[in-house]
Amino acid sequence: MWLTFVSKSIIINKGEKMKLNYLLPDKEATENCDGSRTKLRKHSWLAGGQIRKSIDGSVGVEFFCKRCERRYWHFFNPEEYETYKNILGKVA
Ligand SMILES: [Zn+2]
Repeated sequence: MWLTFVSKSIIINKGEKMKLNYLLPDKEATENCDGSRTKLRKHSWLAGGQIRKSIDGSVGVEFFCKRCERRYWHFFNPEEYETYKNILGKVA
């Protein structure tokens, strides 16, 4: 009898960036985006690549909206960053 093993590991497609609105405060996550044609769609925040650790251990992550290109820095406490670091990226 043949057994088939199916890998359940999550495949992360690095070419495709995930929308990260759920990590941001309500205001930024739910604000309508000027870059959307109807102006009725929300910002679509992606991690912008810049990450900085501050002296108190919190980690600042730069986000940008792929529609209007607005930038926004959000600071995560060490525990939050630990939880999301695979999504946010590594501190340089
Ligand atoms: Zn936007």
